[in-house]
Amino acid sequence: MWLPVYILLSWLLLATAVQEDSYKAQREEMVARQIKARGVSDPAVLHAMRNVKRHLFVPASIAAEAYSDGALPIGQSQTISQPYMVAYMTEVIKPSPTMKVLEIGTGSGYQAAVLAEIVKQVYTIEIIPEHGKAAAARLKQLGYDNVEVKIGDGYAGWEEHAPFDAIVVTAGAESVPPPLFAQLREGGRMVIPVGPVHRTQTLKLIEKKRGKAVTRNLMPVVFVPFTRQGQK
Ligand code: SAH
Repeated sequence: MWLPVYILLSWLLLATAVQEDSYKAQREEMVARQIKARGVSDPAVLHAMRNVKRHLFVPASIAAEAYSDGALPIGQSQTISQPYMVAYMTEVIKPSPTMKVLEIGTGSGYQAAVLAEIVKQVYTIEIIPEHGKAAAARLKQLGYDNVEVKIGDGYAGWEEHAPFDAIVVTAGAESVPPPLFAQLREGGRMVIPVGPVHRTQTLKLIEKKRGKAVTRNLMPVVFVPFTRQGQK
């Protein structure tokens, strides 16, 4: 009576372990081919990209594609960014273990998890309640205790936790929201895609120097739009 159950359970455990090993191998390959090969070299970023289980941040039906070289749909017309883009945006803010980082556009929570592997504390804001709730639950379940998710319009930032050492915006904005720049500490860095809605945007790196924005254009990118509360 118990033998078949035992055999079934053992088989399931084995199958899960084999699957996890395969994902681990896919992560190694993703880092080598998509990320290191394109110039991301910060060891902490590479380590984080190897560690975070991206397949748990995409819908189960497309888990097999989790480590492919592109953005993937996560529902409600939103996407999880391409792995390279996540790694690149993480590297340009020069992340370190003492930092407090604000992210706008939680989405699946993947970028927040990558940041949380490196920095001290991550605050992240998502405007679509279902995504925000699902991401918060996922991050909690995976043990990312240093991430706090808020549901709301990220345009206003998160005043009570400001100033931030860095701000990562993962939705394409038409211009830099002034409250976000205000909440960046002196010497802090913000990475943000800026450009017209539904067009190619420019990924910008903005540093706050003596209160002024020093901007560098990094590369053309396509992100889902930065929406405002009350908009569709
Ligand atoms: N960083 C995410 C990908 C984000 S896609 C990840 O790793 O999965 C962009 C996200 O920004 C979407 O979920 C979208 O709903 C959200 N968003 C758009 N405008 C926003 C705003 N004003 N405030 C907060 N989130 C916003």
